[in-house]
Amino acid sequence: MANEAADDETSYWIGRFSNIRQFVTQRTGRAPHKPLLLLYLLGRFRRSGSTSVTFIEVEPVLRKLLVDFGPPNPRPRPEFPFARLENDGLWMVRGPNGEPNPGDNAVKLRQGGYVGELSSELVQALTNSSDLVDTLANYLLYREFPESIHSLIAASVGLVFNNPILYDNYDSYEIVNRRKRPPGFRELVLDFFDGQCAFCGFYGRLDGQYVGVEAAHIQWFAYEGASDLSNGIALCALHHVLFDLGVMGIDEELAIDVSVRFDSESSAARLVVSELKGKPIERFRKASSRVSPVNIAWHRTQVFKRPRSK
Ligand SMILES: [Zn+2]
Repeated sequence: MANEAADDETSYWIGRFSNIRQFVTQRTGRAPHKPLLLLYLLGRFRRSGSTSVTFIEVEPVLRKLLVDFGPPNPRPRPEFPFARLENDGLWMVRGPNGEPNPGDNAVKLRQGGYVGELSSELVQALTNSSDLVDTLANYLLYREFPESIHSLIAASVGLVFNNPILYDNYDSYEIVNRRKRPPGFRELVLDFFDGQCAFCGFYGRLDGQYVGVEAAHIQWFAYEGASDLSNGIALCALHHVLFDLGVMGIDEELAIDVSVRFDSESSAARLVVSELKGKPIERFRKASSRVSPVNIAWHRTQVFKRPRSK
């Protein structure tokens, strides 16, 4: 009985989080503002039990999260999620004397000393269930981002999971995304690329099994990316992370691209990243390649780190 009640409570909160309204500019555009704010708030609650934060304190943190993990938008706007999350009923923004939420005006939020606070209903639920922070953070990560960068985002928001097994649960992927990850994607992609990283050619086996090479989605699975050869690329573990972070990309000529924002301060970084710029991805130029220019364009607009505007 107790477990059923806990499951109901968990489903209820996942439902609430799944109803968060996100500002999406086109069908596939990314808008991880509210999820990143919530991940930060969950991490903060886990670390210190704190349920509120001033805009002044959270603004630089949120700006950095948006630059690092958001789409390559020239102007990240931390004031958007801070002010607008109140509409989803999970959060409330008030001035020092109870003044109402002034809206997404950074100057007003900063100068007025506005404070955001998690709703008392959510705080109560987080206090009652020690697993709820893990579950909700896990939900947000799977909903918004590829697995290759989950641990990096968790570390950036200072979130330590109580239960790494839950966090690593393959099934949660399906529950969160409400669709199944088709089996065989990894095999399909690795076969097509002969088990080699498409960027550096890394190839290795341990006891006959490929190691260190993964099948990456070009358009993220979390954003409707297909699990087939129109959207797959084999990448070594390092290049997979750099690709999902937008340090590396694929240009219109089907060659490797490297963000101008990447500093290669070591000769190794120059060798395995910077000097690969412009190198053609041979497999994509084969007649049998089915890679879709639409998926490559999605990655270029939604993930690849373009130059910052002046
Ligand atoms: Zn590689």
